[in-house]
Amino acid sequence: MRNLPACARRICAGFVSATALLILAGCVSAPYTGRTQLMFYDENTDITAGAEAWQQVKAQEKVSTNATSNAALQRVGRNIAAAANKPSYDWEFVVFESSEANAFALPGGKVAVYSSLFQLFDNDAELATVVGHEVAHALARHSMERSSQSVLQACGGVLVELALGQDWTPAYQTTSNLLAMLPYSRTQELEADYLGLLLMARAGYDPRAALTFWEKFSKLNQVGVVGEFLSTHPDGEKRLEQLREALAEAQTEYRKSKQLGTGQSYR
Ligand SMILES: [Zn+2]
Repeated sequence: MRNLPACARRICAGFVSATALLILAGCVSAPYTGRTQLMFYDENTDITAGAEAWQQVKAQEKVSTNATSNAALQRVGRNIAAAANKPSYDWEFVVFESSEANAFALPGGKVAVYSSLFQLFDNDAELATVVGHEVAHALARHSMERSSQSVLQACGGVLVELALGQDWTPAYQTTSNLLAMLPYSRTQELEADYLGLLLMARAGYDPRAALTFWEKFSKLNQVGVVGEFLSTHPDGEKRLEQLREALAEAQTEYRKSKQLGTGQSYR
């Protein structure tokens, strides 16, 4: 700690108190799982921010013209959205042309699946695994949680600068990313897997398809221990282990659903 004059110490103390109040005011229970979540935004902000970002994405990305993929995503998306039971969200599901095997969700219920991911799907239930995962990110408000954490990280950065000087800022950024931001991203990924599994089952898709899909995906996307530590995505085996543990609960949901099995086959 630098030898600070009394007025600077008072500024630091005030800043620490304000940050602590900010954390207290921002702690809420995450929807569905009840995990403690930092959230500085209300849900209307999710909807407005998501809709604006979605317009920008649609203007930049190429929408797929593949009739089979589009029909499959609309069919599965409709079923998952019904299972999500979130009338305040204006759900939209779009296939974008891309060689990247990826998918994403924006706040407020906008979901994109990239065209190359369809090469991995054998049936609707495997597509429902990814759609369920993305819908879960939107429902659990993960983007806005990350934005809230970034606000807090920036406050911490100011405090470090006030107390220790600018030279410590890069070390603070790296440490806070490794110790706080990345583990939270992985927590969100595992939460989206779990909620997504329940959603696909509630929508009528056999939840065992989630295991077949993520097994295929993890073979493509293998990361070692170091890779996982530095990655926003959980290790494939950790993901599968959690899904196996949640399978009995998902099968209970599935038995109460309209039981579509694996839905339409793509092969
Ligand atoms: Zn995810």
